[in-house]
Amino acid sequence: MDTRLPEFPKLEISRYIPELDILNNPIFNVKEKNFLAEFYEYMEEYLEEELKNLEELNYKAEEPIQERKSEIVVNFMKKLAEKGYYSTVIDFDDHDVGNVTRNALIALSLCGGFWSPKSDRYVSGNWSIEMGRLAGGTLYCNPVNYKANDYQREKYLIPVIKNGLMAASGMTEFNAGSDIVRIELKLDEKGDKVIANGKKLFITNGMLAENLILYGRLNNGRLGGIIVDTEHQQLKNFESSRVRTYGMYDAFVSRLVFDDVELPRDNLLDGDGLDIMFHQLTEERLVISAEAIGDSIKKLFYSHAFALQREQFKHKLYQYQIIRFPIANNIRGINLYLSALMNYAREIDNRSEIADSKIMANQVMGLKIQTCELAFQSSIDLFRTMGGRAFTEQYCNQFGLLDAYCMVHGGGSHYILGDAESRRFFKTK
Ligand SMILES: Cc1cc2nc3c(=O)[nH]c(=O)nc-3n(C[C@H](O)[C@H](O)[C@H](O)COP(=O)(O)OP(=O)(O)OC[C@H]3O[C@@H](n4cnc5c(N)ncnc54)[C@H](O)[C@@H]3O)c2cc1C
Repeated sequence: MDTRLPEFPKLEISRYIPELDILNNPIFNVKEKNFLAEFYEYMEEYLEEELKNLEELNYKAEEPIQERKSEIVVNFMKKLAEKGYYSTVIDFDDHDVGNVTRNALIALSLCGGFWSPKSDRYVSGNWSIEMGRLAGGTLYCNPVNYKANDYQREKYLIPVIKNGLMAASGMTEFNAGSDIVRIELKLDEKGDKVIANGKKLFITNGMLAENLILYGRLNNGRLGGIIVDTEHQQLKNFESSRVRTYGMYDAFVSRLVFDDVELPRDNLLDGDGLDIMFHQLTEERLVISAEAIGDSIKKLFYSHAFALQREQFKHKLYQYQIIRFPIANNIRGINLYLSALMNYAREIDNRSEIADSKIMANQVMGLKIQTCELAFQSSIDLFRTMGGRAFTEQYCNQFGLLDAYCMVHGGGSHYILGDAESRRFFKTK
């Protein structure tokens, strides 16, 4: 059954906003714009239909949609991989734009969408699909690339990147959320095996993943990371199930149970688990910042379109300052954050050693907080502008209203990050 009310038309974005068009933005260089223009073409031709199919499934009440959705998501990552858009951690070909910058540009467009120069209309993105790309292509691939030996790289990294296999990163547990050093999952080293016992929570892609990087406690009490081949989710004594969320519908956020799961010791990554986890953090937060900016752009296009179309008290909504001001304010914020994002991404590409710098990590953490708060605010403003309609699934689904709410916690909770930042400023010793 389709839950849409025929009285509510689909909200069409009918007007171009030059200030929100990256191809029109002077801070992006020609090489970056060429990369984006190619990605836009690919997205419009090969990905947009699947994004629409995912949205359509959200209107089918009383029908089992999970299987259909998972097929779409799995194929989507394969399509991304065909063009090197899934993971950018290894350069198989020559590229004019560095891999961290490419990762950020893909996130920006896949999440928010863009005004199509080809067909003169807005092509909408989807943050939850981008979260799936980030979890597999970055949160899994980057730490594996950092520590894998030749055997692990050939068997568990290259096929994921080349074929767009679903992958995930298992850090969070029921007790260890923000406080990651409380990880309890046991990785018991026994001869040539490692036996995993414990649970993971909120794992993006978890129930679809072919491979996972699983963090747990080794026999010596230290944290370690091990690659898990889920054997197409049939691995003995391993269970995965979906966590029902109020946004991020297509990110397949999951709960994982390991009950005496036998893993080959050869899959254990060399080095300390905390170092492996933290190694990819700067890039993860940078990419989430790009996602949040993209999402804000999308929300603003929708607010703008609705304000142009809807009339109340004999005036179009855009004629009221209270509707116009937040839109202008958020556009200003987006352009400031875009310049910070591009500066950080280019610098990390030019001097890879600064990705490990604490100051850089902190600055990118600050950008993640600010951009996600902007996405959050843009959602609130869109909700306000849309009136009662925003409260219906009909429109919520169309623009992914609640995705930004999830990202106040996804990739590290703002409150703990902000608290750490403020404490640092007042250090007296
Ligand atoms: C969409 C989404 C996708 C995710 N994907 C993954 C994934 O793929 N893999 C993965 O491992 N995890 C994933 N997570 C988990 C995410 O990283 C955690 O939710 C996050 O780290 C917060 O942990 P928690 O939920 O246990 O909150 P808690 O740690 O219980 O915190 C609760 C609240 O208290 C605050 N708080 C806690 N400690 C402090 C402190 N010291 N100072 C100030 N405030 C504090 C927090 O900021 C938060 O607001 C995902 C989460 C979301 C929402």
